[in-house]
Amino acid sequence: MRQLVPDQVLSSVLDIDLVALKGRGIKGLLIDLDNTIVRWGESYMEPVFASWIRKARQAGFEVCLVSNAMPSRVEAFASKLSVPSVSQAMKPLGRAFRRALEVLGLNAQEVAVIGDQLFTDVYGGNRLGLYTILINPLSTRELRSTRLMRRLERRLFKTMAKRGLVSPAVLGIRGKRGH
Ligand SMILES: [Mg+2]
Repeated sequence: MRQLVPDQVLSSVLDIDLVALKGRGIKGLLIDLDNTIVRWGESYMEPVFASWIRKARQAGFEVCLVSNAMPSRVEAFASKLSVPSVSQAMKPLGRAFRRALEVLGLNAQEVAVIGDQLFTDVYGGNRLGLYTILINPLSTRELRSTRLMRRLERRLFKTMAKRGLVSPAVLGIRGKRGH
């Protein structure tokens, strides 16, 4: 279960404290696409997320999108943002994360994974020793399989809170929609 515990749980990427991340020695961000910075199924990124990524890069962070979606979708957003990407990532498998580390030229201890799913983003990141930040999904629209996982996520968070692995406040944050 420890591999499933995120280092941070927040409602939105906009709540990430970049200064604190830097203080931890984090230099790179591997950012999930769907329902993290773009609503699932949408081809439009709200400007607030594009400008957040710009802000992170101006603050000195290297950014790479890591998404299970198809290359055409992922690359369209990556080129708009002028950042590299790894698509069809098959998270939680480690291969795509390792490739992203190579692309950025950083070690696992210098990189954070940011995503909306416990079983892909957080589990995959933790297995490689990356810092993991779970945020709330932007939309309730998702694949049916993802919706099933959400129920499991909620149950797991209750157990984690009971065992003191996450703060009880996480249950409140996770109950809300991001952004
Ligand atoms: Mg996602």
